[in-house]
Amino acid sequence: MSAAKKDLVVALDMIMKDLPPILLFTFAIGAMCSMTAMALKKQRFFHMLFRRFYVEASPNDDVYITSFTATCPWCGTKMNLRNVGPAKGRRNDVFVCERNPEQHTISLDPTILTDLNS
Ligand SMILES: [Zn+2]
Repeated sequence: MSAAKKDLVVALDMIMKDLPPILLFTFAIGAMCSMTAMALKKQRFFHMLFRRFYVEASPNDDVYITSFTATCPWCGTKMNLRNVGPAKGRRNDVFVCERNPEQHTISLDPTILTDLNS
């Protein structure tokens, strides 16, 4: 680690020790909200809460928490939208059948979703 990085780590460590935990919690929530807002501006569709719920932005920038279900076209069972893939790598939003999750899957194209409030 370079000297500058080491100094930065030491400075951050000193700041973190002096701050009350509620301030750190507030900062973490604020950072999470900022990242979600940036992702929503770019994609208008973003997964959250254990990758089971989604945050969507309407054309007039209202924000909604949504979940999606579908009916499996092969067996008629309920399908849930999940964000699946490797822990470190590209993950995809996929409808997964409850009865046959290995073979009955459909990739979601969020660009074909109708606008909220329309
Ligand atoms: Zn199925």
